[in-house]
Amino acid sequence: MNNRRYFVAGNWKMHGSLGQARQLAAAVAQAAPDAVDVAICPSYVHLNAAAESLQGHALALGAQDASAWPDQGAYTGQVSAEMLRELGCRYVILGHSERRGLLGESDDLVARKVERVQAAGLIPIICVGETLAQREDGQTEAVVVAQLGAVLERCGAAALGDALLAYEPVWAIGTGRTASPEQAQGVHAVLRGTVAKKDVKIADSLRILYGGSVKPDNAADLFAQADIDGGLIGGAALDADAFLAICQAAAVAV
Ligand code: PEP
Repeated sequence: MNNRRYFVAGNWKMHGSLGQARQLAAAVAQAAPDAVDVAICPSYVHLNAAAESLQGHALALGAQDASAWPDQGAYTGQVSAEMLRELGCRYVILGHSERRGLLGESDDLVARKVERVQAAGLIPIICVGETLAQREDGQTEAVVVAQLGAVLERCGAAALGDALLAYEPVWAIGTGRTASPEQAQGVHAVLRGTVAKKDVKIADSLRILYGGSVKPDNAADLFAQADIDGGLIGGAALDADAFLAICQAAAVAV
């Protein structure tokens, strides 16, 4: 048993309409358990509508990315962390494997984004994870430690005192193939151990989420692991009942 409060975030990716975002946010806000920190992360253009649905509720709002560049400037298409804070965001997912893989985001770029997001007073949810080929090649630990290492090097261990980590094996995202609780726990322990080498206290309080095909029927087993402190949920976050069931699994996890 650990004393870390569980955290569940829903990554809505590029899904839904304005009306659906409003409805889904309202449905989740009304029934999310108090015992867990819960955040929803709609697309940029749905943030405002979702924020309206969250008024008066404890549910937090997050974005799926933020710019690595300064708050104002000639950066066409970019959205700054300051702008996201103004819209009511508290969290920002950074380094999601879809951005690393599809858009070529490097470890260094992700670390620069962490810096900017924290400078704006927001909390990054920093994603790391290996591909199937890397896992089969025995590279899992080296890959996630390098991804985390870039953040530690640029921002320092203290930055992780105000951040969350998410271990998301690329082969498990959106595939229906979940890491076993033991596989996930193994990587979470490596991540916590890596931070502990720099700062034991920060490592101990750091919340490390698991993401990759988490569903209501596998959430409890994952959340029961010593170093898994919640989940980053994709597909199941688009269904209010499924997402709430996962939040409930976190609420009763010890
Ligand atoms: C994600 O998008 O971060 C994710 C974990 O997706 P899914 O739950 O669908 O695997």
